[in-house]
Amino acid sequence: MTSQRTLCRDCFTWPPSTSAAPPERCPRCGSRRLVSHPELDRLSIAHIDCDAFYASVEKRDDPSLLDKPVIIGGGRRGVVSAACYVARIYGVRSAMPMFKALAACPHAVVIKPNMAKYAAAGAEVRALMRDVTPLVEPLSIDEAFLDLSGTDRLHGGAPAETLARLTGRIEEKVGVTASIGLSYNKFLAKVASDLDKPRGFFVIGANRIEQFLADRPVSMIWGVGKALYRTLLADGIRTVGDLQGLDERELMRRYGSIGQRLARFSHGQDSRAVEPGSVIKSVSSETTFNDDISATDALRPYLWRLSEEVSDRLKRKALCGWVVTLKLKTADFRSHSRQRRLSSPTQLADRIYRTADSLLEDAVDGRRFRLIGVGVTDLAGDRLADPRDLAEPGLERRHRVETAMDAVRAKLGKTAIMKGRGLRVDTLKQSPSSRLHPEDDTD
Ligand SMILES: [Mg+2]
Repeated sequence: MTSQRTLCRDCFTWPPSTSAAPPERCPRCGSRRLVSHPELDRLSIAHIDCDAFYASVEKRDDPSLLDKPVIIGGGRRGVVSAACYVARIYGVRSAMPMFKALAACPHAVVIKPNMAKYAAAGAEVRALMRDVTPLVEPLSIDEAFLDLSGTDRLHGGAPAETLARLTGRIEEKVGVTASIGLSYNKFLAKVASDLDKPRGFFVIGANRIEQFLADRPVSMIWGVGKALYRTLLADGIRTVGDLQGLDERELMRRYGSIGQRLARFSHGQDSRAVEPGSVIKSVSSETTFNDDISATDALRPYLWRLSEEVSDRLKRKALCGWVVTLKLKTADFRSHSRQRRLSSPTQLADRIYRTADSLLEDAVDGRRFRLIGVGVTDLAGDRLADPRDLAEPGLERRHRVETAMDAVRAKLGKTAIMKGRGLRVDTLKQSPSSRLHPEDDTD
């Protein structure tokens, strides 16, 4: 039997290794917060995710909320942005329509999101992460990958210990708790951080990884959204084990480029490096016209193409956003922007386009425009993206259509299918001055 390595998360000592079951309490301080795993002192890729972040920040700032169910979200037609662990006991979940959440938990305290406050707390958390390694890759406001390879000497201990100390500091200095996932690649670190929440520490080692993954639902694989999940189910693929039985080429033939990820992740392989960078705050795209345009009908094909561009990048980054912004620049170089907050965050080209188009109708008044742009801000992880929403009938069908089109494009190239409203823009023959800005705005 392999011997367990054990770490006390309160006094940061390593009780002696043993091949027997790990101790229940720390022999030094008596704490029960021990983490044990045979590979604990060797793994160095982590995903740290704050627990019910928005709700935790609100509770930190108003201790009278501590034991109450707290929901962060918009009005009755909106969806839940975050629910504290008390509210979750009543069945409230992120992305649930608000009316359902309130039916499940009528006495919940509902708080409108204060993004500026959460962003400030998130920045403090990130600063503490960057104190332990420059290799911090933020995924959203409250979660990041950390690569702690080779930091043992610098920190005087294995990455597991550095991480335990780090989450302690986050609690002490920022006033919120976080959970740690530790493994040997990003995919598994992210899976791990979700398996022991809140205030957890979960470890996934390389030994018998395929067995570990086999019974888990395919939806746990990063990039398998609701629509792809349904497609896989329809094809008889329910578990990661079902994927393990299919080879990479077959999966790519069936599902396009995502097939490669499905194949590799199902065997616990992920070669992506932790790439330090900033949290992406917005995804936007804009184009300058050859000749100024004033008519709505002439602007729309551009708007559609830009919406698709923004949507593609959101999907690639597993993000979605709450606010759609339309930007116009008039012939005399004046910039105008209008924005609308959605009832739930989106990554769909169709929804981005429809929202931007309604803003366009309000903006067009005979002036001539030289530039048009579309952006999505107030970003979140795509778990929250485009929930079934009674307020928008047809959304789910449109989402299915879009996902099916994405799959075909992934296989056959971008021009394989183009929606009618995008076609005209190619016949307009843009000059070299027309451009799409691929960069994302970062903090
Ligand atoms: Mg979180």
